[in-house]
Amino acid sequence: MHCTQCGTLASPDAKFCAKCGSPIGETEKPTEAQAVTVVVSKPRALWLYIVGILLFGAYAAIFIPAIVGLNINPQVGPGSMFWNGLFFYLWWKRRGRKGWHGALVGSVIGLFAFFAAAFISALIRHGAGG
Ligand SMILES: [Zn+2]
Repeated sequence: MHCTQCGTLASPDAKFCAKCGSPIGETEKPTEAQAVTVVVSKPRALWLYIVGILLFGAYAAIFIPAIVGLNINPQVGPGSMFWNGLFFYLWWKRRGRKGWHGALVGSVIGLFAFFAAAFISALIRHGAGG
């Protein structure tokens, strides 16, 4: 076995080179499997279900009064945007995409849902009022 540093022939059981003192034999390079351990953290599916149920509740809170013909409480608008944003954020993350893209998409959907409910509410009230 030769020294990797100076090329001097060393005895097979030598741990260090007799000439330059470099370690011989087992080089302590980490193997690729040890070096590359990328942990991809995905949000758990459970959170997606929980937020999905809360989102469903938010939709119910928006659309049930709308269908009955009641005024839409403006406070449910930000709530709709929040739950949609959170739901889509988690969904996007689970699919390995950028979470804030999902949050943005969800917020826009939440806003549209709010306006849609307000529109339905106005339509029904006008219809009922004659
Ligand atoms: Zn050497």
